[in-house]
Amino acid sequence: MHPFHWVPARGERHASTDYRPSGGYPAGSTITTLCDREMRAEVGEVAWLWNTCPACNAEAHRMVGGARQTATV
Ligand SMILES: [Zn+2]
Repeated sequence: MHPFHWVPARGERHASTDYRPSGGYPAGSTITTLCDREMRAEVGEVAWLWNTCPACNAEAHRMVGGARQTATV
């Protein structure tokens, strides 16, 4: 389990550490992304085909890499 979630917004897939309700962020909910911006979450099948935000992707990899160093599993 990673401390962030992927969420489509503004034509890209971003990652956010905001609390996410089960079932995902409701459409239109404001989320703070790892690229340090606030934007409204979008939903839908097509939204998941958008490109990954490079800044969020880099930050997500950094967080996962750091977690692996302290976790044994
Ligand atoms: Zn982003």
